[in-house]
Amino acid sequence: MSDSRVIFEKSVKDRMGIAIPKLDVPEISLSDSISPELLRETPANLPEVSEPQVVRHYVNLSVKNHHVDKDLYPLGSCTMKYNPKINDALASLPGFANIHPHQPVENVQGALHIMYELEQMLLKITGMSAATLQPSAGSQGEFAGILIMKKYHEQNCENRKYIIIPETAHGTNPASVSLGGFKAREVKSDNRGRVDFEDLKSKLDDEVAGMMLTQPNTLGLFENQIEAISEEVHKVGALMYMDGANMNAVVGLCKPAEMGFDIIHINLHKTFSTPHGGGGPGAGPIAVVEKLAPFLPIPKLIKDDNGKFNWTSDLPDSIGRLHSFFGNFGILVRAYVYIKMLGDSGLKSMTRVAIINANYLKNKLKDAYKIPFAEGTLHEFVASGVLQKAKGVKALDIAKALLDYGFYAPTIYFPNNVPEAMMIEPTESETKETLDRFVSALLEINEKINSDPDLVRDAPMTTPVIRLDETKANRELDLRWTP
Ligand SMILES: *Cc1c(COP(=O)(O)O)cnc(C)c1O
Repeated sequence: MSDSRVIFEKSVKDRMGIAIPKLDVPEISLSDSISPELLRETPANLPEVSEPQVVRHYVNLSVKNHHVDKDLYPLGSCTMKYNPKINDALASLPGFANIHPHQPVENVQGALHIMYELEQMLLKITGMSAATLQPSAGSQGEFAGILIMKKYHEQNCENRKYIIIPETAHGTNPASVSLGGFKAREVKSDNRGRVDFEDLKSKLDDEVAGMMLTQPNTLGLFENQIEAISEEVHKVGALMYMDGANMNAVVGLCKPAEMGFDIIHINLHKTFSTPHGGGGPGAGPIAVVEKLAPFLPIPKLIKDDNGKFNWTSDLPDSIGRLHSFFGNFGILVRAYVYIKMLGDSGLKSMTRVAIINANYLKNKLKDAYKIPFAEGTLHEFVASGVLQKAKGVKALDIAKALLDYGFYAPTIYFPNNVPEAMMIEPTESETKETLDRFVSALLEINEKINSDPDLVRDAPMTTPVIRLDETKANRELDLRWTP
């Protein structure tokens, strides 16, 4: 029997995980050195346990939840690819991990060099002219991009009100639009799951500041009218913004600047590995075309004539700072290492394999699950659970059932134009054998639904906690264990 007690229950008075050397200086009482109002009335209730108990505590905790080091994590749009351990090893080098943002630039030249080169790499990948690594999430990159749009139009003495976003957009897009002081104008999708071109044209006028578009879109499909879309948007003097949170179908194969985009954000924590989830940390650099470079946030990283790196805030048209300091540096190192390790040809095959893997899964699943927009899948696809819903089983139940097979669930109920949506992104890191196991699980779940839907409705049954009341968990947050 495994010991399922929580660590507090394992505590034994005076048990210690470490041996502290004998005191060889005079002892000072706490009340002599700390003012009384800062002292606790009762000692902190910490568990008293041995070192192996602590280690086992954390190891066991680490496998209670699902994570990508355990098995496939097909969370569409979020890109939970495997993170090569070398990224962590290098980001943990003391010279990187212990760096302080107030250190003078002379003694952090190596770190600045990495940031500078990473910017250059992202410019090469996107085809853009200038970049900033400052935004610390995709959503913050979006916000920065929207502020840049605003500044650009203000400089042209224009007060534009609207930003066009497709109905399939990620939720952060309308949020950034409204935070930036604009209103969203929604454009419909056509029957191929792409932007409805006629609807778009009807919504363009000189009050439109720009268009935000995810490419490939959230159905995993390439917006193949992109050049015509960019042309129409530019015709009314508006800018094209690419939500490049997930660049897994783009890197090395095509460049956003060549598709007519003026601004792009890239989630390093999706496309370029880096552990994420549970709220961070992340990095959402943005890159822009030349005419928008003056608006980038300050401070800006520059390389002087002697090859020395430095920060400058001498950008009078800048949108300003997004936050203190320079971004999540450890995440930048991981992305840098990832890109360097793969190189040009490695990046290209990363993209190709991501596309092949998604298409492989789609083809294996298409007889059991409905796939509404199946033409032209790139790195992810959206299956619909409508056939299963007719038998009384929701996409949520299918997602939960997958947990019993040792897989994480796909993203569900997004995008909005697919009923009972299950958005599956296998990423390039998985082997064919893993994909086959995943297919078998989904096919078996479908067979269970056909024979007895109740077998699935109560899933999961084998996880540390069974079906949770998620609304209650959100509304009555209670994170503390009390004896
Ligand atoms: C993840 C994602 C975002 C937001 O990125 P965060 O780093 O989570 O803020 C925006 N758009 C798309 C399409 C995404 O997948």
